[in-house]
Amino acid sequence: MIKIHHHPGDDLLVAYAAGSLDEGLSLMVATHTALCPACRARVAEAEAIGGVLVEDMEPDVLSEDSLAAVMARLDEPEPVPISKSAPEVDAATRDLIPEPLRSYLKGGIDSLPWRSMGPAVKGLDLPVSGMSKARLFRIKPGAAMPQHSHNGPEYTMVLAGGFSDEMGSFARGDVACADESMLHQPVADEGEPCLCLAVTDAPLRFTGVVPRLFQPFFGI
Ligand SMILES: [Zn+2]
Repeated sequence: MIKIHHHPGDDLLVAYAAGSLDEGLSLMVATHTALCPACRARVAEAEAIGGVLVEDMEPDVLSEDSLAAVMARLDEPEPVPISKSAPEVDAATRDLIPEPLRSYLKGGIDSLPWRSMGPAVKGLDLPVSGMSKARLFRIKPGAAMPQHSHNGPEYTMVLAGGFSDEMGSFARGDVACADESMLHQPVADEGEPCLCLAVTDAPLRFTGVVPRLFQPFFGI
């Protein structure tokens, strides 16, 4: 059992339970809750409260049809996520990457179409719709990401290895939240490469001349 120290905020968990996050942020919260029983329980609690609120609504708030549809949905069993790529994922990747993130990957971690972002960092855009962008990063042990600030919040979940920045140290399962006021530079731990899922609500903004060269890789 892994020990998780850094969780997404309750605001994100509640929004996730209400189904109001876009695909990238949902993917991050769902992947974290796959590894974190505490947040799984928080989401279940929020879903239960949401269900009660719906039951308490006056009939004129919801039309009869939509109320019936909501009630029918509440009775349905939870859909089981279907892995679109399960047969193509190797055993090591299966152990490392929980669903739903695994469904976005074709092939094992080593055979993904990584883009080099300098000598120490590789990135891979994930196909998500909505405002947020989701990317996997693979950082060599001990290497630093370019220093950057944000136009909006950035959430980074560690899948393997770990990293540290001005906010603390993050290991498998941990989610680091950086807001737009922060200028930060994550540095990967020594040992194994750091694999993480990063979701940004708005494009990153790099500072300095050299890091600006990285901007095209981040889709700016
Ligand atoms: Zn958690």
